[in-house]
Amino acid sequence: MSANPFETSLATLKKASEIAGVDPNVVKMLSQPKRVMEFTIPMKMDNGELQIFTAYRVQYNDALGQTKDGTRVVPDLDLDTVKALGFWMTIKHAVAGIPAGGGKGGIKADPRELSEGEYERLIRAYIRKLPVKGAWVDIPGADIGTSAKTQAWMLDEYEEIMGFHSPAAINDKPAEVNGTLGSTEATGTGAYYVTKEVVKDLGLPAGARVAIQGFGNVGRNAALLLHKDGFKVVAVGDIYGGIYSPEGIDVEKLVEHVNKTGSVVDFPGTSKISTMDVLEVDCEILLPAAVQSVITEKNAANVKAKLIMECANGPVTPEGEAILEERGVTIVPDVLTNCGSAIVCSFERTQGLTDTYWDLETVLEKLRERITKAYRETAEAAKKYNTTYRYGAWINALTKIGKAMKFRGWI
Ligand code: NAD
Repeated sequence: MSANPFETSLATLKKASEIAGVDPNVVKMLSQPKRVMEFTIPMKMDNGELQIFTAYRVQYNDALGQTKDGTRVVPDLDLDTVKALGFWMTIKHAVAGIPAGGGKGGIKADPRELSEGEYERLIRAYIRKLPVKGAWVDIPGADIGTSAKTQAWMLDEYEEIMGFHSPAAINDKPAEVNGTLGSTEATGTGAYYVTKEVVKDLGLPAGARVAIQGFGNVGRNAALLLHKDGFKVVAVGDIYGGIYSPEGIDVEKLVEHVNKTGSVVDFPGTSKISTMDVLEVDCEILLPAAVQSVITEKNAANVKAKLIMECANGPVTPEGEAILEERGVTIVPDVLTNCGSAIVCSFERTQGLTDTYWDLETVLEKLRERITKAYRETAEAAKKYNTTYRYGAWINALTKIGKAMKFRGWI
């Protein structure tokens, strides 16, 4: 990924549009956000000192419906990152067939340096000061630095302001405050459903070997399902290191080990490798599920997997991708592989609007249907334009967004 994530997303837009001959006015409209909000949050800290925080919300494009998605609270947040994330969400929602546009927001702050009380005041102030919001406009969810707990504060503050309950106005809330079941496992489960489909299409063997970098929410849930389904998980890595066993790793026991020790390292019966070695072990399927830019021009030639499922956002750089493409490695892009949480968030809004709450089986079955359809549409677009799944996914999204813009009379 280049230094500026917004420029990276514009470069992908340009290339996908060239491949499919997308209307230049669609490209023009998608090259700029619809609405950018930047504001300050002055706050008295516990010690009486006044601190002023910078906050953002980008409602990138709403041709397909109200905007929605996460709120990032990190110390190095900048507007270009928020714009890029809002744009990616616009594409991700369209890929996944979600009737929503893309939005993203955040606060430039380090939650680890705030007391619990300061953090709650900051999150509540963010919602109070956010100028444009609501279930039919823009729905903030969680992202890095936010969680179900912060989303419950957001909901409570929003409902206090409005004077009525409005659960569909905030996403990623706990199920106890009108959230949805299944949000924790949504992304890993979605990645598993897509992997199953791609494996069928590529004719990979039953019990194919899998390596997974990242054993957090996404990696762990995907690993558990793949293991249960008979795939052989041979390597797993986290921030502390990696483990390898050509005979296969018992993922359920590994979860117990991680819950006890905090890391996959030293799991009995495995050999120690580095977390970067996980990307290069002998296997058919690789799930980078940790951080961005781990497969680059430096290590792409050493990747042995035939299939890479991008569970993290942007784990393969464009330079790394060029080498992998040349070698015939299939990459299923992040906008498709990890769209499970975006799908379940959309279900959360639907449940909030209808005041009807689904059981876990219903949520997961609807997720399976939606993400499988997204994969099929992506594969068809890739085939039609003789391109990769990455561009197939973007073309699928641009086609839907472009049609909506035309019907609305924007272009
Ligand atoms: P998490 O914090 O629960 O887990 C991250 C895992 O990656 C941990 O095992 C951690 O030890 C490991 N890790 C962190 N830094 C690493 C590094 N430099 N090298 C190797 N391993 C490292 O995060 P998560 O929710 O599982 O998300 C994983 C990735 O998926 C992120 O890139 C995230 O943006 C993306 N993603 C997550 C969701 C979601 O619903 N959680 C949705 C879409 C995309």
